[in-house]
Amino acid sequence: MKKEAIKFGRRDMIRSMGATMALGALCPQRLWGASSKYQLTDIRVPMAPDNPAVLFDAAKCVQCGQCKTVCERMMSVSGFYDLAKSGDVPVCVNCGQCTSVCEGLALVNRPEWQAVKAAKAAGKTVVVSVSPSVRVGLAEEFGAAPGTFCEGEVVAALRALGADYVLDTCFGADLTIMEEAAELVRRVTTADRPLPQFTSCCPAWVKFCETWYPEMLPNVSSAKSPIGMQGPTIKTYFAQRKGLDPAKIFNVALTPCTAKKFEIRRPEMNDSGFRDMDAVITTRELADWMRAEGVDYAALKPSKFDSLMGEASGAGIIFGNTGGVMEAALRTAYWMVNGKNPPAELLNYGPVRGMGSKKKRAYVKQATLELKPGLPVTVLVVHGLAHVREVIERIKAGKLKATFIEVMACEGGCIGGGGQPRAKTAPYVSRAMRQARIDALYADDARGTLRFSHENPEIQALYRDFYGKPLSAKAEKMLHTQYVSRAKDLG
Ligand code: SF4
Ligand code: SF4
Repeated sequence: MKKEAIKFGRRDMIRSMGATMALGALCPQRLWGASSKYQLTDIRVPMAPDNPAVLFDAAKCVQCGQCKTVCERMMSVSGFYDLAKSGDVPVCVNCGQCTSVCEGLALVNRPEWQAVKAAKAAGKTVVVSVSPSVRVGLAEEFGAAPGTFCEGEVVAALRALGADYVLDTCFGADLTIMEEAAELVRRVTTADRPLPQFTSCCPAWVKFCETWYPEMLPNVSSAKSPIGMQGPTIKTYFAQRKGLDPAKIFNVALTPCTAKKFEIRRPEMNDSGFRDMDAVITTRELADWMRAEGVDYAALKPSKFDSLMGEASGAGIIFGNTGGVMEAALRTAYWMVNGKNPPAELLNYGPVRGMGSKKKRAYVKQATLELKPGLPVTVLVVHGLAHVREVIERIKAGKLKATFIEVMACEGGCIGGGGQPRAKTAPYVSRAMRQARIDALYADDARGTLRFSHENPEIQALYRDFYGKPLSAKAEKMLHTQYVSRAKDLG
């Protein structure tokens, strides 16, 4: 009998028994080898108790097997290492996709909203930055249709919960584009670093590369993610302009992403002289926090972001979509090379948009365009780490060539992140839900008048008054980073 049939047979059995208890109580325990402390690893992912992104409660596990399926098939993490070789330490890229499919809610986002509340109570200045995908997710937690745009409600909810400032991480995305596009242009025109250049804004992808493909790290853009840039810029530039003591700022990223909980704790993320970002809460966690504090979503009056780091272009908004970072970067790379904005085609760049076909290879979107006459670039967009593994293997075998590759670990991009709302029934985050959120972010870009990162007046002011220009010494120090090989984690 096929593995799939066994799995669904087991789930059906649980349902027919009406079981709400952990099936672990009914089945003999199976161990990985003789000495592993993790149980039932033929059915579920082993989860380390100190995983910064995901919490596991064995008592709630109904052995649906979905965590293992998603980790293996979407992420190519489970099944690609051996506990017996890794010292019985689970390898995890912290994407949180297992929490999006777990039937018993045994695997959940590790919550941090209580830490934000405690910081506020301790007199800290709480600054929250909101990622693009949250504004097409939160409303679903309160019954709205997938993709309902709720930016103003998100800001209002954060103010109701006590945030002192609410900023837009799409501003950080615009900043990332300035640095990453400048880096791309430099690589293409001077060959100072190898091509293809990979995007670096997805911490699950970066950790995946560090673990399985450290030889590709020179190809990964050194630009930090939007949150990685937002953090130190708040504790320096923003603090100075607003007259705030950076030691008293508690920086919070509100994201669709559990892997950001790992990213902000990387030792190098302290370029402000402090820990750059202090906490990460996901869209789901915000909803939990609102319920716990009695914040009524329906009664919220939409509010606006605060100034200095609260304005964003449509290019920053579409960062949440697969293909969005690529399109945003191409818009600004074209401007950097030609000194003028690109043709309208790059304001709705079809070849890199959408989920792609369900056929495996079609998750890789590809296009070739001329940044200027005689300067062609081939771009690839890939989402779902299993597809990324395939792309890298093909590149290494010389079967695939590209100039610039956008990678997002989660299918559909961050709109499908491991901290985004789940539907009440399986598959919990459907393809249609992902597409609706994608459409909502593109619609917001299309209805705006500011669609280029380099035209964002707050970004222009930041460079004029603080960083100088993209890739300046100060920008390199604060906005760029380096990576480490984690190959030894595999044993
Ligand atoms: S967080 Fe991602 S990589 Fe880690 S166990 Fe869950 S699905 Fe696998
Ligand atoms: S695709 Fe987005 S949400 Fe998913 S792990 Fe990467 S950064 Fe996080």
